[in-house]
Amino acid sequence: MIPRRALPLLFAAVCAAIASESPAPSAALPVTVIRAGRLIDSASGKVLTNQVIVVEGDHIKSVGPDDGGPIVLGPNGGRYVDLSDATVLPGLIDCHTHITSQPENYYTDIFRKSPIDVATTSHIYARRTLLAGFTTVRDVGAGEYTDIALKRAIDGGKVAGPRILPSAHTVGATGGHVDLTGFSPSIQFKDTSGVADGVDAVRFRVRQNIKFGAEWIKVAATAGVLSEEESVGAPQYSEQEMRMAVEEAAMWGKKVAAHAHGTEGIKRAIRAGVASVEHASFIDDEGIRLAKERGTWLVMDIYNDDYILAEFTRMGYPEKIIEKERLVGRTQRENFQKAHRAGVKMAYGTDAGVYPHGWNGKQFRHMVQWGMTPMEAIQAATVNAAELLHQSGRLGTVAAGAFADLIAVKSDPLADVTALEKIEFVMKGGEVFKDQIAGSPVKVFE
Ligand SMILES: [Zn+2]
Repeated sequence: MIPRRALPLLFAAVCAAIASESPAPSAALPVTVIRAGRLIDSASGKVLTNQVIVVEGDHIKSVGPDDGGPIVLGPNGGRYVDLSDATVLPGLIDCHTHITSQPENYYTDIFRKSPIDVATTSHIYARRTLLAGFTTVRDVGAGEYTDIALKRAIDGGKVAGPRILPSAHTVGATGGHVDLTGFSPSIQFKDTSGVADGVDAVRFRVRQNIKFGAEWIKVAATAGVLSEEESVGAPQYSEQEMRMAVEEAAMWGKKVAAHAHGTEGIKRAIRAGVASVEHASFIDDEGIRLAKERGTWLVMDIYNDDYILAEFTRMGYPEKIIEKERLVGRTQRENFQKAHRAGVKMAYGTDAGVYPHGWNGKQFRHMVQWGMTPMEAIQAATVNAAELLHQSGRLGTVAAGAFADLIAVKSDPLADVTALEKIEFVMKGGEVFKDQIAGSPVKVFE
């Protein structure tokens, strides 16, 4: 329904959107006009009131003040979405997901599931992620290129899901976080993996990932929590090995994200030139100083500790893994607060796929509890995440020229950031996937 009130300004904007600039092809693009009662401007950290957003095709054409007059959609029609009683934000970005799978049972997940099982169900998780308001994810590790296949299906309009920046196999050491450890030497999987020892092997894995579609390279700089090798903090790559990953990735125009819990491995990864350190649980003062100096991003997943401690014993995870999580949990949160206070660049990343997909928004409240303002937490998941992903101006902002990735909630997330756990409106690339506010028809997959 289009309101009867008249809005000359908007009429002009829409006519411009439909008729001006690029001539013929642009004229055919669908137009959506959105009234936003409140708009969180992630770049300035301000809240704008009564704005009109004009979407043309998959991009935002213009954003400007709403004078309250009627919406006139212009000669070719279009769609009007009334979010005048809601808060509109840029689509959220999770910089650390494993979107193709999530744990059900330790032994079943390892021994009874093939990459084909994973690929068959991954679209369910992609849809849940998108409907939770996360319109972009950087996926940092998946088996057998399932992340790349999923991305292709989403980009091809076959299934609903976020924009994915995939990294395929995590590159890591024999016996380390990405290797199957803790079992009989006779047990070997035939599938490919990212295991690589020494600089030449690392170079090969980087090239192999990129050959098959990786847009980021993920390396395991230290031991992990959800793997059976000893000592969660132990370094697993030399600085030279990681430097090779960074240099080789750069040759192909890619960047590196390093999984690193341990103090020494974090510093090696930063010195080697990675773009982001994931987890960063035991970062020390020197690591914080190095990250600041080098402009290295920290992506600290400070929600999932709650989920692991509550659920993973039930799912059959060995006690040694649960014990590792106990070591990491609180320290990681304290170090998040320290790093934030020190002014290190931080982007939102949750390790979704450790906990159920679609719960990505649960981390906001922890980031606020551990020292960020709600606006800072939102910026971590929008404008800052976009900067880490080299998508500034295209993602994480509601501005002319950006992708029309928009979300909305009826309440005010700056007053209560848990509002972002229940996103009520989701648009990705100009298509509406969820609308519990204005009741717009949503995209249907046939
Ligand atoms: Zn992870």
